[in-house]
This record gives sequence, structure tokens and C-alpha cells, in this order.
Amino acid sequence: MPHLVLSLILYFSFCNRQDSRQPPPEGSGGSTPSPYEHIFAQHPNYISDGFDFPVGKPDAKNYYNAQKFGKNTHLGDDWNGRGGGNTDLGDPVYTVANGYVSEASDLGGGWGNVIRIVHKTPGVSWPYVESLYAHCDKMLVKKGDWVLRGAKIGTIGNNNGMYYAHLHLELRHTPDLPLGQGYSRDTSGYLDPTDFIRKHRPKK
Ligand SMILES: [Zn+2]
Repeated sequence: MPHLVLSLILYFSFCNRQDSRQPPPEGSGGSTPSPYEHIFAQHPNYISDGFDFPVGKPDAKNYYNAQKFGKNTHLGDDWNGRGGGNTDLGDPVYTVANGYVSEASDLGGGWGNVIRIVHKTPGVSWPYVESLYAHCDKMLVKKGDWVLRGAKIGTIGNNNGMYYAHLHLELRHTPDLPLGQGYSRDTSGYLDPTDFIRKHRPKK
């Protein structure tokens, strides 16, 4: 399985280097082109131009990351308001980059309301990156929406009182992976959100 993933990464990286505006050649190498090639080709204004933080836009001002990626096998970041407790309940959540909303639904369990957004990322090591925002109090977007970096997509929630309010943010370099559990020793497919955002800020 790791070999397949590596092959896909190499394949897409190669295509990306050739010309990110061209869809990958049909049937080449036995790989299937991403279904997102087609829809982003029709919405070029929503191709990513860089990443910002999802709270306190654009730099996470007045927020802190209470549980960083990798700590306790956490697969994301937990963004909290500096005031602590539920003081950030209802605060705005912003999309980290331009993209396509691939999901916005109540997934229950420990997840609650989850928004997933696919970003087409020319010039990045992966052709697409997905951001996932969990435990939202309100969701202001729906599947199929297009969003521009910094747009308010929802609000910080506490999953019906299960937690103190916070935003669980994941970044994945392969869109549409299974939802997962939020924690795992196996980080394949996941990116350190803060590290990635810092390294891919928009050009001023
Ligand atoms: Zn979390």
C-alpha cells in the first residue's frame, strides 16, 4: 500500500511539474486522473494562492494551538481562544485557502459538524490538499460551494458539550481519505497543519 501511495504522489508531482493547468494525460501509467481536475478547470478563480490560519485571520491572532499535530498521536491542531473554556464558542472559522467544499455535514460521534474543503495547490508538493474543520457549532457552507481564502465557513463549537469549544483542524495531502479517528500513529496522508500553513503563506 505505501508503494501505491508513493506511486500516486510521484505521478501527480510529475504531472504538476509538466503544467499544472493541463489535465493529466488520459490513461497514462494506468492511473486515474483526479475528478477534481475537471471541476477546478471550470473554476480557475478558486485555485489556491496560499494558506492562512483558520481562526483569528489571517495569523491566528488571539488563539493558541492547545494540542499540536503529533502530540498524543493527534492528527490535527486544536485551535482555542486565548480566553480559555468556552469563550471561543461561536467564533468565526475561516477557510484556510480557496477551494471546493466537498462535505459539510453532521457526522455524529466525537466529530459533530464537519466541513471538508479541497484545495488545488499549484507549486506545492501535492496537487491537492484537503482541509477538515471539526466540531463546528454552525456550518455556513454546503457541499458543492466554492470559497475564497478567509471566507467565514462556520463557527467554533463544542460538539454538544462534549468538549470545551475548539476547532479541530486537519490537513491532508490526499483528498477524500476516510474520515479517520482524529488520532493515529499512522500519519500517512496527513500534514502538520501549522507547519504547512507557515510554509505556504500567500504572496503579499
Ligand atoms: Zn483535535
